[in-house]
Amino acid sequence: MIILAVETSCDETSIAVLENKKVLSNITISQIWEQQKYGGIVPDLAAKLHLENMQEVLKKALAKAQIEQEKIDYIAYTEKPGLVICLQIGKVIAETLALYLNKPLIPCNHLEGHIYASLLENTEEWKFPVLALVISGGHTQLYYLKKHLDFELLGQTLDDAVGECLDKVSLLLGYTYPGGPVIEKLALRGKNTYPLPLTKLDDTFDFSFSGLKTAVRRIIERKKFENNLTQLNINDLAYSLQHTLAKILTFKIKKFLNENKINTVVLGGGVIANKYLTDYIQKFLQDKNIKLFLPQRKYCTDNAAMIGILAYYKLMKTSKNFSF
Ligand code: AMP
Ligand code: MG
Repeated sequence: MIILAVETSCDETSIAVLENKKVLSNITISQIWEQQKYGGIVPDLAAKLHLENMQEVLKKALAKAQIEQEKIDYIAYTEKPGLVICLQIGKVIAETLALYLNKPLIPCNHLEGHIYASLLENTEEWKFPVLALVISGGHTQLYYLKKHLDFELLGQTLDDAVGECLDKVSLLLGYTYPGGPVIEKLALRGKNTYPLPLTKLDDTFDFSFSGLKTAVRRIIERKKFENNLTQLNINDLAYSLQHTLAKILTFKIKKFLNENKINTVVLGGGVIANKYLTDYIQKFLQDKNIKLFLPQRKYCTDNAAMIGILAYYKLMKTSKNFSF
């Protein structure tokens, strides 16, 4: 089964071709260099660049996969969530390809794609029940899955997402978008010296990070006000922020594990590229007989391969010959 997948939900134009679970090609053009000038994503610019880059991405994805167009069986695309005008471009491209090739369309959820990314180029399968955490630039969500594609949303952020918090702190420190890699790099030389608030450690599975971001902002502004900015140890501040985020996320995972039997924990989303965070969670899961599934680094940020593999599992679920 050959699936061509299209992802345009934010600032990456991506097309992948999969043969079952195998990635034949996964071509992505990121707009980070263009969007960086504005400190975040400008939707109109994102849409314009998707249109500019789409042809090149499609051509390269087909060429690298080395398959004739007629061999494609399904067209998958990101239906939601994301920037509406960007999603519309992906949808129109997918619909046009589906019409031209006379193949069925498979609309996919971007966040579910981030979760299924951990099954890309992985011979192992999840053992259910699964607890899945998506942490990205726009979302922070915790899901419970009794079986494949059976998503039960347990909780989500009530304000900023984890990635958004990192992106905003990076800008406050005078660095660029995206902030996650900046904070990770600074933290490599830092220590946990700034006491930051462990926000929303309550009885729910919801998160809140705006208070944490504000606490960091106050620390920076106080130093600016005192004209003492040189005394601010930005490496320590970055480390303390990363450490606090890891503690908050792990608290919610721990809370769920205390109350429920889970065999697999799955992480997904751009922020999962952060090694400190994943090591922290991995360490917590050690000795608990729970397997941690992570996407390879290249599949952490937005890409079409994750949409392709999600489509593959959707098709498998409806196939008579397959039982999960
Ligand atoms: P996504 O929304 O899934 O495309 O992921 C983008 C988000 O991931 C942005 O908020 C980035 O700052 C964040 N991100 C990317 N790389 C890293 C990293 N190494 N550490 C933490 N966050 C990261
Ligand atoms: Mg994403």
